[in-house]
Amino acid sequence: MRFTTAFRLLSSSSSSLPSFSFRGCSHWISKVAMEPKVGEVWSGTQLSGESIPIGKQIFCNRSLNMRNTTAVGFDMDYTLAQYKPETFEALAYQGTIDKLVNDLKYPDELLKWQFNWKYMVRGLVLDKKRGNILKMDRHKYVKVAYHGFREMSKEEKVAAYGSTLIRDSFDEPDYALIDTLFSLAEAYLFAQLVDFMDKNPGKVPAGTDYALMYRDVRFAVDLCHRDGTLKKMVALDPGRYINEDLAIVPMLKMIHKSGRSTFLVTNSLWDYTDVVMNFLCGPHYPDVSYPDNHKWLQYFDVVITGSSKPGFFHDDNRANLFQVEPDSGKLLNADLQIPSPRPTMKTMKPTHKVYQGGNVGHLHRLLSIASSSQILYVGDHIYGDILRSKKVLGWRTMLVIPELAEEVMLLSDSKITRKELRQLRRDRDLIEDKIHRLEWSLNFEDLKEEEKQNLLSELEDLRVKREYVRRLHQEAQRNCHQRFHKVWGQLMKTGYQNSRFAHQVERFACLYSSQVTNLGLYSPDKYYRPSEDFMPHEFDVLGL
Ligand code: IMP
Ligand code: MG
Repeated sequence: MRFTTAFRLLSSSSSSLPSFSFRGCSHWISKVAMEPKVGEVWSGTQLSGESIPIGKQIFCNRSLNMRNTTAVGFDMDYTLAQYKPETFEALAYQGTIDKLVNDLKYPDELLKWQFNWKYMVRGLVLDKKRGNILKMDRHKYVKVAYHGFREMSKEEKVAAYGSTLIRDSFDEPDYALIDTLFSLAEAYLFAQLVDFMDKNPGKVPAGTDYALMYRDVRFAVDLCHRDGTLKKMVALDPGRYINEDLAIVPMLKMIHKSGRSTFLVTNSLWDYTDVVMNFLCGPHYPDVSYPDNHKWLQYFDVVITGSSKPGFFHDDNRANLFQVEPDSGKLLNADLQIPSPRPTMKTMKPTHKVYQGGNVGHLHRLLSIASSSQILYVGDHIYGDILRSKKVLGWRTMLVIPELAEEVMLLSDSKITRKELRQLRRDRDLIEDKIHRLEWSLNFEDLKEEEKQNLLSELEDLRVKREYVRRLHQEAQRNCHQRFHKVWGQLMKTGYQNSRFAHQVERFACLYSSQVTNLGLYSPDKYYRPSEDFMPHEFDVLGL
């Protein structure tokens, strides 16, 4: 069992400080990114020697010495570009409804539906056939389940998902994973449609079932991403949909100045990538010495758009690589023009830096990277960005989890409650053990009548007590979880277990943090070290 809660605060190794030579840069970053908020918990040490608030710290699952990293790569959407769900996801939601009504003949009343962008969270699983939304623990036990918006009873959960060890994998094609923030709108719409169909079976197109509704929603969402419904609107007013982040450019400059290459690999195509990156890096940093319009390109050595991750991470994927001409967006076949890698060669800056498609082999050649473990890739999508890159290639990975900032703050506030919860759990265990012992005696020991009566009355008392403590514990635990999220509770936990999402983070992300720019708060030579692992017996013996 790993103990990686936010209470275990990382502190930067002071030995990495003297070699760092970008004090001006780090000071600048700290001014931008380090605005303390009332009640924030501060710990860890940043470059300037100030503490890093817990919500901005980088947490480590697997040791990572940045000195061995020669290239740092970034995903764009929901990594460098943090979308505002209240506008961006609402746009996806509205666009999807429009398509359901106009193209797929769903009833007009859907047009009046409202989107609650706070309702769904990452890590949930949609059961397409049954119309359920599930939250699971790391063993894939369903702990919280809703049918549409109705909470399922324990009996319903057991009936649907069993309680034995022969378990469903809860993967595609029967289930859909809500593993990116892009999926929040479609998950919400699916729950609404399930509710709607249950209450109005005659109002949906004939032959429609839950799975078919999910397929329609998926189709419509997919179309919104592809046909320009979303991208056109973002291009008109990026500031309405994307959070401005003034710490991005200083972070990229810092990585560059430390001698590392930087690259961008995004599934977005060039025209949209240019819009978003211009917004994030462009207007705030006019640099007259840079000759063309796409100023943000100066911060990257290689940019690959339309990458089709996660397929991109397979070396044997034969996708063609094209050069993109930034001004016109014209594509030229680039496969033949990339030099072969030479392990000893210092990173060779390619003359062209914007590409479309290709695969990881192309990228390694463009960056002249000899060993894949020299790459750190930062992304937001556990499947698209992190799992394959780490598992298949051995890249080092950092997962961006914006939800983490609030989660660790609430966690920090819940220290006392959690202590009380642990005590209640111990009390309940103790009472249960006593009950079992008494039951044993009553069933198997040769007792006199008087002794028997005494034990029976003691047993009765204990059963009442057990029920009382059980309810108290259940109530306290529910309250504690609801502080994180009214419906789904703490992102990283289900009850006392790590959630499925947390388990994936732990397995596949070497580092994780709330924002990509938190990288800029630490030295580019930082040695990230994981916290100590703990087994259950160590918790008890050490009183943790
Ligand atoms: P990245 O995260 O920078 O690799 O880019 C993600 C891209 O995938 C963005 O352009 C999104 O608009 C796009 N995207 C997200 N969800 C979908 C989908 O369901 N269908 C098609 N494109 C999607
Ligand atoms: Mg992304």
